[in-house]
Amino acid sequence: MDNQFDPGLLVRERLKELIPYQEVSYPEVIKLNANENPYDFPAEIWRDINEMLGAQSFTRYPDAMAQQLIRELARCYSVGEDNIMVGNGSDELILNLMLTFGAGNRVVIAVPTFSMYGIHARVAGAEIVEVARLEDFGLDVPGIIRAGESAALVVICSPNNPTGNSATVEQVQAILAGCQCPVVVDQAYVEFGGQDFLPLLDSHPNLVILRTFSKAYGLAGLRVGYLFARPRVLQYLFKVKQPFNLNIFSQTAALAVLRCRDIFARQVAEIVRQREALYKAMRQMPGFDVLPSDANYLMFKTCYPAVKIFEGLLERGVLVRNFGDPLLTRYLRVSVGQPEENMIFLHSLQQVIAELGEKD
Ligand SMILES: *Cc1c(COP(=O)(O)O)cnc(C)c1O
Repeated sequence: MDNQFDPGLLVRERLKELIPYQEVSYPEVIKLNANENPYDFPAEIWRDINEMLGAQSFTRYPDAMAQQLIRELARCYSVGEDNIMVGNGSDELILNLMLTFGAGNRVVIAVPTFSMYGIHARVAGAEIVEVARLEDFGLDVPGIIRAGESAALVVICSPNNPTGNSATVEQVQAILAGCQCPVVVDQAYVEFGGQDFLPLLDSHPNLVILRTFSKAYGLAGLRVGYLFARPRVLQYLFKVKQPFNLNIFSQTAALAVLRCRDIFARQVAEIVRQREALYKAMRQMPGFDVLPSDANYLMFKTCYPAVKIFEGLLERGVLVRNFGDPLLTRYLRVSVGQPEENMIFLHSLQQVIAELGEKD
């Protein structure tokens, strides 16, 4: 029986080619690899969450429509409640978009970018059409529109992960007008900078905006993302949505966080100040080029293979992001941490580069 059973015979080739997103965890490091909020979660909001949880029963299913959270999101962002969908992280919403529009169709992705678009597109059985970004990582707008003609979904990220640059209103408007399909703009980092494209929802029925509580709002561990779109688009997404995708704990925490947005606005302002300081310091160091960023991370290009720098930093207890992407073999990304973490990163980077230089 054992040697007759081969599950691989039943799995489509395109899925077999997929490399799973598996993050190795390194204990006891300075974690600057995942663009999380580096500060401790505010104690006063934690108290609010506990109080709000006390009134709930875990024996019952969560609110499938997440009504309280959706009402608060609608109020905060001045959109209709029927313009919002929440997900188990925006990752789940990306999967739902791919299952709804991508399955059996073409999906256009502007690369290099966040790897989950390609992974979920593949899982959904979509055909992926990659449109390369320009030399400076700006969008190839005519290229995207041309590819979009035969596609069912276009995905762009702004500010883009990992390059840190943003799209302009003119570019996004041109893509929305030039494409007959939904255009997803992932704004996971918009709290840190770049243009907010939500105002375009009024005039563009094919715009879909993705946002998350994982980066600026410090809830990466609880998995809460949300999406703004027209009801005409949302009606199809609701067909594939898991009914109880957002658990009671996450719904409650996201609601408490929204009610205290000013606390996070102060953290974001500090992170942006730190980003600028880190950028200036890195620009003055020899051995690599750092790109300007609208987000809470910086991408830099080194004259050594990125993996060497990655390993050297890890030996010194600093974890940054190395990419498997062939477009980015000499690039690394570092998240902005707390000031003392950034200092240790800078110091370690200087040491690693000096050491590699001596070996040459
Ligand atoms: C981190 C990230 C996400 C994922 O957010 P979750 O809400 O934690 O799933 C989505 N898009 C981009 C571009 C990201 O960098």
